[in-house]
Amino acid sequence: MSQTLPDTIAASVFNGRADCIVRTARELAARGWTPATSSNFSMRVDAGHAAITVSGRDKGKLGRDDIMLIDLHGNAIGSDARPSAETALHTQLYRRWPAVGAVLHTHSRTQSVASRLFAAEGLIRFQGWELQKAISGHDTHEGVLEIPVFPNTQHLPELVACVDAWLDAGKPLHGYLIDGHGIYTWGHDMAETMRQLEALEFLLDCELELRKLRTS
Ligand SMILES: [Zn+2]
Repeated sequence: MSQTLPDTIAASVFNGRADCIVRTARELAARGWTPATSSNFSMRVDAGHAAITVSGRDKGKLGRDDIMLIDLHGNAIGSDARPSAETALHTQLYRRWPAVGAVLHTHSRTQSVASRLFAAEGLIRFQGWELQKAISGHDTHEGVLEIPVFPNTQHLPELVACVDAWLDAGKPLHGYLIDGHGIYTWGHDMAETMRQLEALEFLLDCELELRKLRTS
């Protein structure tokens, strides 16, 4: 794939984002969180563009050529590759929040199982876990952290509408699950986004384990 950049974007800037996404994707793939070419990752490049994974690639074997430039409406810029199928869920976050710099979406077993278990309630409520503090804006285990579970659909505008409805209701949102599917989270940069993803994975795993022990 060849990526042509607009004059306003320096190659060093785009390549830096692409390399960061590649490194992160390999790390997440090594943990088994991106099975069967699933999952997608992106980083903001400037006010109107993001770098995102090309659709359908093995996330453990990505190179710089597997990352492409899009505008914030999901259109490919300077490339004839196809961006991730769920690009609309990334661009929605960049459009809503100018401070969002990175978005990670994975399909770990824990995320997938938890999404099924809590789908009927429509959310998971964490309270009393020290690791809630790894989520931006949470500085104590005593607070309540709510992660919604939205119904899965292959029709992306429906999912975009679910996220918009949650946010338009004024509720805080640091990540969400999609039923039987996986998780989305985001942050100012890749380090913050990765920290939140790890924390959410850990919290979901703890909730699942607790339920197993209580019912056995
Ligand atoms: Zn997905």
